[in-house]
Amino acid sequence: MLRKNRLFTPGPTPLLPAAQAAMASFSAHHRTADFRALFTRVLADLKEFIGTQNDVIVTVSSGTGMMEASVSNLTSPGDKVLVLSAGTFGERWIGITKAFKCNVDVLSAPYGRTFSFDEIRARLTPDVRTVFVQATESSTGTRHDIEGIAKIVRGNSDDTLLIVDAITGLGTTHLDVDGWGIDVIIGGSQKALMIPPGLAYCAVSDRAWQRMETTSSPRFYFDLRKERKAAAKGEAAYTPATSLYAALGAALDFIRRAGNGNLSDGRAMLVDNAELCAEMTRVAVRALGLKLFSASSGAALTAIHSPQGIDSGQIIKEFRESFDAVIANGQGEMKGRIFRIAHIGYYDYLDTIGILGALEHVLARCTATPVEYGAAVRAAQEVYARVSSGKRQLIEA
Ligand SMILES: *Cc1c(COP(=O)(O)O)cnc(C)c1O
Repeated sequence: MLRKNRLFTPGPTPLLPAAQAAMASFSAHHRTADFRALFTRVLADLKEFIGTQNDVIVTVSSGTGMMEASVSNLTSPGDKVLVLSAGTFGERWIGITKAFKCNVDVLSAPYGRTFSFDEIRARLTPDVRTVFVQATESSTGTRHDIEGIAKIVRGNSDDTLLIVDAITGLGTTHLDVDGWGIDVIIGGSQKALMIPPGLAYCAVSDRAWQRMETTSSPRFYFDLRKERKAAAKGEAAYTPATSLYAALGAALDFIRRAGNGNLSDGRAMLVDNAELCAEMTRVAVRALGLKLFSASSGAALTAIHSPQGIDSGQIIKEFRESFDAVIANGQGEMKGRIFRIAHIGYYDYLDTIGILGALEHVLARCTATPVEYGAAVRAAQEVYARVSSGKRQLIEA
């Protein structure tokens, strides 16, 4: 049968056609009035998308570049920092903060779990300058309770900064950035924004801008103060990825339209959309007798235990070869043990039903146990019918 290539990975995610068209036709020079207008509009729209009054900075990098920028701009060598780590992205915070010579304390939760508030409280002494965490840990599918964590950090000391990698959290989780007091929240272009990899963005609180005046870690290209100064004039400090800005503008327009003219309503729609895709998937997977990996699975992605005795790589390969569908393996020590299906961004009902229908065939081919065709699909349909009854869901790209 004919196969169409489709991504079900937690980044990059499927591209919005309107964004692809906008990119393909864009050629403005970055020091022109046309580009300044686009740049200024994109930054203002990103603020609304994030849901913050804080200044937003965009860098030409993958998400990790902005994670590094948050460390290089906001810490000094020897700073006591606390990393909350429950997967490979948490471990990335450890790697970056150590590379910049912070005095790193790590509170770990096992893969697939989240943190105990009591343990966070116990670790959070007043001399901790900065706390780093993920909103959703993409390696396990776990959503951390950022509201609860922010409450603890804000209660610790007015001076402790909270830096949240929400690269898969933004657009899949309701986050009250300013209300909860998140000092830096980080996103990436290849996740809920439905455009290719290459841009990262963050919103920075006043408290964090003040900290930057006193920190001494080395930085040059990723100097956020330089970018803020240039942005005030409608420009980037260096040559920006101009066509990606065009794509971003189109994606934010799409999200605004989905919210009937209101970007934050559009973001809420995107979160609800991911929630519904995720719930359909969780219920379907259980109907097939499979087990979820995470004890607090978020809407960004669903991580699933590979059936007993089956390397998850086989499942991933079968999806690829039979359906040209790309799903993700586990990372690090979870490689071969789990597989991950993403719901971030541009997924609809048919995508979700399609991947679950394909999962039934994949299991039938990879395992010895008979598969009851339709079990996963039916379970997902029942969720959809219940959640969407009485709601009109007409969001067209
Ligand atoms: C995708 C992702 C990143 C960034 O990875 P890059 O490959 O650098 O874009 C960081 N954190 C999380 C939680 C992610 O999902």
